[in-house]
Amino acid sequence: MLGSGLLQGLAVTAKNFVGSFHDPARYTTIEYPEVKPALPEAYRNFPFLVSENATDPMGTLRCVACQICEKECPPQCIYIEKSKDKKPDAAGKPQIYPAIFAIDTSVCMSCQICVEVCPFDAIKMDQVFEIATTTRFEALLLNREQLAKPNSYYHGIHPTEAAEVDARLAADRKAAEEKAQAAAAAKAAAAAAKPASPAAKPLDESRRSPQGEGGPPAPKAPDESRRSPQGEGGSPTPKPQSEGGAVS
Ligand code: SF4
Ligand code: SF4
Repeated sequence: MLGSGLLQGLAVTAKNFVGSFHDPARYTTIEYPEVKPALPEAYRNFPFLVSENATDPMGTLRCVACQICEKECPPQCIYIEKSKDKKPDAAGKPQIYPAIFAIDTSVCMSCQICVEVCPFDAIKMDQVFEIATTTRFEALLLNREQLAKPNSYYHGIHPTEAAEVDARLAADRKAAEEKAQAAAAAKAAAAAAKPASPAAKPLDESRRSPQGEGGPPAPKAPDESRRSPQGEGGSPTPKPQSEGGAVS
């Protein structure tokens, strides 16, 4: 029938108009900025750094400054400098950390490649979209302190993904602990299997004293070739004069 599509469209509009007075699901507009839109979990814009602890974000960053994301970022908008020292991470293991970590969000194209390549789940995509500034460069260059956000924030914006990451990290830590315990047990078993000290060697017969065990060693018999013809204790035999030498 001619105009049936138009009538169906008007019916939907009328339904939403009436429904918007009593059903929030039928709202087609919100009073922004007083009311914020509910963003879908998959929404993303710029990256942020995950820290384990909200009270010490700089001390518990997951990032170990491996610089993989810096190398892989297509527009090269990540800048990292490694620390010279090591600090204990959230698990207490000494780690290198980023002394400088900056992202130029005026260049970032929200591709999420940095997130995909990070082996430590240390960088994730944020959902903050109110980032308008009056300057084009400085305000959009975010430093380590501005980028760090706690894991609880990550759970707030991407709950499903954050739960998966937590489960994976917990499994990795457990596996590492079990491996360390197994290595320590194997080391202890190997040390126990080794003899405590080699058995004391029996005293050499040739070095035994004639007085019996424990006495001083027997004096060495004088060498036969060095004995004098006068008997033991005499002066050694004089050497024969060589031929042609003076005769006394
Ligand atoms: S989202 Fe893409 S462009 Fe932005 S910092 Fe990560 S890798 Fe670079
Ligand atoms: S965010 Fe990840 S990939 Fe980038 S430097 Fe830190 S640990 Fe490495």
